[in-house]
Amino acid sequence: MGDPIGTGAAPRGTLIVGNCQAGVQLASSLRELGDTEPITLVGEEPHAPYQRPPLSKAFLKGEATADSLAFRSHDFYQTHRIELVTRERIVKITRDARGGEAVAESGRIFPFARLALTVGAVPRTIPLEGSELEGVHYLRDATEAAVLEQQLRQARNVVVIGGGFIGLEVAAGARASGKDVTVLEAAPRLIGRAVSEQTSAFYLQAHRRRGLNVVLNATVVRLVGEHDRVAGVELGDGSVVPADVVLIGVGVIPRTELAEQLGLLIDNGIVVDAQALASDGVTVAAGDCANMPNPSISDFGNGRLRLESVQNAVEQAKVAAATLLGIPAEHKTVPWFWSDQADLKLQIAGLNGGHDQVVLRGDPDSEKFSVLYYRAGTLIAADCINSPLDFMAVRNALHKGLSVPADAATDTSIPLKKLATEAPALSEKVTTP
Ligand SMILES: Cc1cc2nc3c(=O)[nH]c(=O)nc-3n(C[C@H](O)[C@H](O)[C@H](O)COP(=O)(O)OP(=O)(O)OC[C@H]3O[C@@H](n4cnc5c(N)ncnc54)[C@H](O)[C@@H]3O)c2cc1C
Repeated sequence: MGDPIGTGAAPRGTLIVGNCQAGVQLASSLRELGDTEPITLVGEEPHAPYQRPPLSKAFLKGEATADSLAFRSHDFYQTHRIELVTRERIVKITRDARGGEAVAESGRIFPFARLALTVGAVPRTIPLEGSELEGVHYLRDATEAAVLEQQLRQARNVVVIGGGFIGLEVAAGARASGKDVTVLEAAPRLIGRAVSEQTSAFYLQAHRRRGLNVVLNATVVRLVGEHDRVAGVELGDGSVVPADVVLIGVGVIPRTELAEQLGLLIDNGIVVDAQALASDGVTVAAGDCANMPNPSISDFGNGRLRLESVQNAVEQAKVAAATLLGIPAEHKTVPWFWSDQADLKLQIAGLNGGHDQVVLRGDPDSEKFSVLYYRAGTLIAADCINSPLDFMAVRNALHKGLSVPADAATDTSIPLKKLATEAPALSEKVTTP
């Protein structure tokens, strides 16, 4: 194992499987931390590593391409002696404590001394009659986004199944470019897994004001086709919503197939500790594929979480890089996230899990306000809509272990940052970089 030319030499260097947000950060961090060993960054996509968030935003407006979204120039990888490999899908990995080898679908072999899995996630699919019809899409990568962008340009009626972040971003963009757009959400409210009823209710109203047709508690029965192309979506009440393009955005599932081969513990992703180490004690994992303890919720639930965000992928990758080099590091940052839906910028700081109080700061009708979440009287998170100063203030307060008294927070004449005070710590302090 790990000795393809039979010299008996131990394999050298780090193999990072998955060359996107977490993978690129991990490779860069290894070099920043002084690693001089070979680094191979391998991914199955045809493009150089690129940012995914604009795929549901600028990309669909024709304002970006995979090339323009690249994280780094080709020079960067050369200068930092990072071997960037595209179009190679790893299908098999074997390893022991000394190292191992990964085999690509093409047969190419990648030996390694250290292994990182930054393999991300894939869209959750739903077994719907008609899913195979032309015009039905999921959205995860630039190849899919390019096809969707072309089809949206020619579409008149667009249906989005799933009222989560990605679905609403695509729906809002299509609506802004003059399409008739319907969002079908199975739950009683939008973005229900991530935000409170107050934030959901705001987005429902705001999108309806912009002309989106939003159906809550929707039951999708099947996709109806005409000549192999989607023509509509049939609902439980027998009605058919016309559609030239359907986007299905109902969440993602972490990619765990390689981790399973390695016998690693899996539970909603690859289970890792606060150092990003998987259950074998030698492989690291980071990003959308990893389920890691999170200090922001150390007193809530089982204290661990699998997050799907850029900030999480970047921070976990930094920790994973340090761990591979034997440098003590721990994931300790305040989570944050953003979503751009039409002209509505949502920024979320902290995690609202287990909140027992919600405070509105500002007037939702002004489309510039914040929703603050408290647990046992302490601020734990905020959804800030077109309110970047509130977002920064909450993020900084959480970083410093501060809170904002709930009764004072409603006074928009006083900046939130001036209201931050010492709080009884809910959990150990978390830090931002
Ligand atoms: C449309 C869209 C919009 C988003 N918007 C936002 C946003 O506004 N804000 C935000 O914070 N986050 C957003 N996200 C989420 C964010 O992009 C992800 O959290 C982030 O990309 C996770 O990075 P990652 O490296 O863990 O996984 P990924 O970016 O998924 O990268 C994993 C890579 O590994 C490759 N891979 C997997 N298995 C193999 C294998 N066996 N062999 C070779 N290669 C493999 C995959 O092809 C992929 O390229 C968005 C995501 C999408 C899809």
